[in-house]
Amino acid sequence: MRKLPVHLDAVSIQPSWDCGRACKGCYLQNKSKANRGQQSLKWFQELFRSIFTETHSLFTTKQVTLSVDKLPADHRRAAFMEEILDIFLMQPKGLTEKHITVHSRMDLEQYGPYRFLKAFQSELDWISVSKIHNDYDTRTLSNMGPRINWNTLPAGIRGYGFCAETLSFVDHLHLLLEKPVLGQDFNRIAEIDFMKTRDFLRQHFPSELRQGKITFDPCHMALEGYYTKGWGCSSNLRKISIWPDGTVTGCPYDSGREELDHEESLVMALRDEYDWERCRIKEL
Ligand code: SF4
Repeated sequence: MRKLPVHLDAVSIQPSWDCGRACKGCYLQNKSKANRGQQSLKWFQELFRSIFTETHSLFTTKQVTLSVDKLPADHRRAAFMEEILDIFLMQPKGLTEKHITVHSRMDLEQYGPYRFLKAFQSELDWISVSKIHNDYDTRTLSNMGPRINWNTLPAGIRGYGFCAETLSFVDHLHLLLEKPVLGQDFNRIAEIDFMKTRDFLRQHFPSELRQGKITFDPCHMALEGYYTKGWGCSSNLRKISIWPDGTVTGCPYDSGREELDHEESLVMALRDEYDWERCRIKEL
């Protein structure tokens, strides 16, 4: 095992099992309820403190992204998610960038006007939004502190006019490839949609591509790397995902995690090998 601390590019944090969207096929829903470990506010508090304020933590990372999911109906579970967001927003901004990711502006509004405004006025670096609304409120918010990333599947692009208008006020567009939970069958239609939309963006928005305002899913880029150079993705090497019970995986689509204690799981995740064995992307 390599010596700590380890330097990472990105850490994604999924703080709760209780996203109110409960979308079918979501990697979060895939882990059976019986196998879900206990989520602990105290542990996340410690983790944030270690990342943002300690100089001798287990690892350093260039950025941390917190998933801010739709609040569930259960008040106790919703309060847990609100508290995690509060703790994250109050962390000092330093060398590590602070990002949040939400499905839509409305999901973030659910957290109440105080937290909603604080997110836009705080020292967050980026807010990623999957479902974007070209309305007055979104345009106004896009002029506040954090930069806006439109994190979209091909279906969200909805033609040239909508895309051009959205690109006029967001800071970045990231085109995602729809992926199954690691090890499960890949949907080839998803890849065709991704390729078609990628070609459409290349054709209609070449200058945005050159300026780095549009980027494509790194998992698809990993496939290109695999065929040309023989290497896969960077999960486990430069990026990790942390789950509500403190377990850690390299790939965010890995629901087959072992139950480990928190400290051990963090260290286990930082191995010198790709988390690539069960990825079906390489079979495309
Ligand atoms: S193993 Fe890597 S390339 Fe495959 S889905 Fe996970 S992050 Fe993407």
